[in-house]
This record gives sequence, C-alpha cells and structure tokens, in this order.
Amino acid sequence: MCEKNGRIHSFQSMGAVDGPGLRCVVFMQGCPLRCVYCHNPDTWDYAGGTEISPTDMVKKILRYKPYIKKTGGVTVTGGEPLMQPAFTAELFRLLHEQEIHTALDTAGIGDLHQTQNVLAHTDLVLADVKFLSEQEYRRYCGGSFTAVVRFLDSVEEKGIPMWIRHVVIPGLNGREEDILALKEFLGKYKTVKKVELLPFRKLCLEKYEAIGIKFPLADVPECTKEQIDHLYRLLPSIWR
Ligand code: SF4
Repeated sequence: MCEKNGRIHSFQSMGAVDGPGLRCVVFMQGCPLRCVYCHNPDTWDYAGGTEISPTDMVKKILRYKPYIKKTGGVTVTGGEPLMQPAFTAELFRLLHEQEIHTALDTAGIGDLHQTQNVLAHTDLVLADVKFLSEQEYRRYCGGSFTAVVRFLDSVEEKGIPMWIRHVVIPGLNGREEDILALKEFLGKYKTVKKVELLPFRKLCLEKYEAIGIKFPLADVPECTKEQIDHLYRLLPSIWR
C-alpha cells in the first residue's frame, strides 16, 4: 500500500452532526483504543475497510463541493484518523487547496510528531475527552490519558479551535462532580469553543452481536435528555 493511501471504513456525503454546516464525513478504519461504550467496533480492525488515495478521496468529495463549501466542509473521523496520519494530512492539504474547511474528529491518540502534519491543515478539532484520569482512561478506553493531554496541549499551542465531545455514561462519568471536573480541566484551554455532552446510547448492540463480542455496557442504563439538560447547566453558556 502506498504510504499516503488510507483505509476507510465508509463515507457519508451529507453529515450534519460532526462539525459546522453540511459536511462530507470520512470514517477511517482502525483504532488502537477499546472504549467500553464504542459505537463503531466494526472500525477497530486495521485490515478492514477499503484502500483509497488522498487524491481519489478528494475527487469523491468535490462532487459535493457546492453543498459543503459555504458553511460546511469535511470531517475525518473513525476509527482513529491519527493512526493514518500521512493520509489524513495529505487529504487535508488537498482540501485546503480547494478552500474547503477541514475538521479532525479524534481521541487524540497517535504519534505526536506525525500529528503535527495533520494539524498544519486542520481548521477545527473535535476532541473526544472521555475520562479525566490515567487510571480510568486505561480501564475504560485501553489508552493513556497523558497522551490525550499532550495532544490537547499541542492543539492549544497552535491556536486551532476545539469542540470537545464527552459521552455521558450513567454511573461511570455522568455525575455532577464529573462534569464539574471536566469544566475545570477544560478551563485552561482558550481554544475550546464548544462542549458537547453526548448521551450514552445502546444502538450499537446489533453491531457487537454481528462481530461476536459482548457489549461491555449492556447492563448500564441509557442517559436521558433530562440528565443531559441538567448537566449542561453546570457548564458555561459560552461553550454551548
Ligand atoms: S476511540 Fe472511537 S472508535 Fe476507537 S474505541 Fe473509542 S469510541 Fe471506538
């Protein structure tokens, strides 16, 4: 496989929830984490998906340019886009040549040096902040929170706007004190423009069954709209 080619899981032409405006969304294949609430276990395997070059990906995207150019753009998500940094960096560079807005939806896990090449052509970072301690991050996501903090610091240094996403899981990270701790943690980042609290859902059960893995949170209740509305009130209105 050519170094800059990527393996993608899927492509959505008109997404409206992964960044501002109407967006093409590229779902990358492969993820090193194993978040207990993951909705996309079918993206974990690096060998899955289809191979594509950045140039061919851009050709596909350009068909939708009239719809996405004005207020939207392109979001690369996953899986984990930073595990394929050469592809993501080249895709974003080519999109910037076309004056198309680029958003990186990431857990912030990846080689920090190569990540810089991606950030050089990133207009917005959608950063998943899942848990706030090394111990919890290792236990519930199988990764290092220290690495996530290093990534967030790097985005801050570059002055790239960030939207933070936090999946609220009752009993794990959904108490008032958890959201207040999130508020305190994020307070040091001036580039945070928005914080999205996303309710834990179990719409992924069929996917887990299909690949023969037990969903770790099958017995945890879903998060209600009332719980989310209540927790939002603990956050500054400038982050809404
Ligand atoms: S980072 Fe995303 S794709 Fe990877 S395991 Fe976590 S939720 Fe799933």
